[in-house]
Amino acid sequence: MALSPIPAAEASAAGGRRRSCRGTALPCPCGYPHPVPKNIPQAPVRGLMLDFSPLRRESQRPVEESNGRQGENHLNNVIIIGSGCAGLTAAIYAGRANLKPLVIDGFEPGGQLSLTTMVENFPGFPDGILGPELIENMRKQALKFGAEFKSGAITEVDLSKRPFKLSVGNDVHETQALIVGSGATARMIGLESERKLVGYGVSTCATCDGYFFRGKEIAVVGGGDSAMEEANFLSKFASKVYLIHRRPEFRASKIMVDRARANEKVQFVTPYAVEEVLDVTKGGVESLKLRNTETNEIKYLSLSGMFIAIGHEPNTKVFRGKLDMDENGYLITHHGSQTNVPGVFAAGDVQDHHYRQAITAAGSGCMAALDAEKFLEAHKNS
Ligand code: NAP
Repeated sequence: MALSPIPAAEASAAGGRRRSCRGTALPCPCGYPHPVPKNIPQAPVRGLMLDFSPLRRESQRPVEESNGRQGENHLNNVIIIGSGCAGLTAAIYAGRANLKPLVIDGFEPGGQLSLTTMVENFPGFPDGILGPELIENMRKQALKFGAEFKSGAITEVDLSKRPFKLSVGNDVHETQALIVGSGATARMIGLESERKLVGYGVSTCATCDGYFFRGKEIAVVGGGDSAMEEANFLSKFASKVYLIHRRPEFRASKIMVDRARANEKVQFVTPYAVEEVLDVTKGGVESLKLRNTETNEIKYLSLSGMFIAIGHEPNTKVFRGKLDMDENGYLITHHGSQTNVPGVFAAGDVQDHHYRQAITAAGSGCMAALDAEKFLEAHKNS
């Protein structure tokens, strides 16, 4: 097992400057010399980290800077909750259908893509595109077709009859149809170093980022089915995958554990908790500080990336008891994007714990807008 205190020389060698896999000439957390995509504006650099704040600020424009009409207490045709891939695609389609959708941004405008750097698997961008830029493009497209945006998160909903009522703080919005695209948030361990290195060697999406770690040693954290599945998936790229779990037993199903154990590239590291991701000062992942949860012994593990697979939380708290959801809180849809309440539709990760891709979220956003349009047409006199 490669668990050992890291010698200073090794630690410093691992931090050599490389070209970033995220399309910038910054040190790469994974070390792979990815080509710099062309025609992508370079984000301003703050220290060693990318600063997307100008793009984020764009995404957080108040509604009066978009299409002018204030949403407060106005009866809307359709309100879309969430401004990630699902919500914005729904806004583009609903806008083009002349429904003048109102998009309520939510706590995290732009959704999970706004926390990503390079997106290489969204069709139509052969050189990749920065997540915040993709989101901003979608937002502009939605604005162009008449969508309006309101910052804030929904604090209360009344879906007992139409028009539905949604509270955003003190404002109440009424709508004839509702599209919920509030997404799911990947659970994080909760370390400061982990947060700072998201997108720089720390990832919550193996499908999105596995490719960047070809020939590298990496870790997957978690003991559920996702962790087992991601460890196996990542072993296609990585030279070695450490599966780090805080207990000797696994929550994952036996077949998934057996499959991971049978994979010669996957090495189980239990019972260990990640205490720190190193090295924030170098802007990339070089090692993990681990603590044995039974003996408290501290060890270091040298590697290039850490994938966190400890579950997702769908953002559905406000809909509890109002919309049907599964035991994990994901909204249940049928016949496309319909929920159990006629006129309420759901799209994206808030109703999908399986695919969780930008493109599948966008596709379901399209479906929800088309379903909402059809619903409004059928109920225009009711
Ligand atoms: P999960 O089953 O809830 O497992 C989460 C794992 O992360 C647990 O092992 C848990 O440890 C660990 N964990 C939670 N918080 C942690 C923290 N702060 N620090 C370190 N470890 C932490 O989540 P999931 O694996 O994402 O699966 C979610 C659902 O999707 C499950 O129903 C699963 O069966 C399903 N799924 C199925 C498949 C498949 O069948 N192909 C694939 C993926 C997911 P403890 O065990 O110690 O609590």
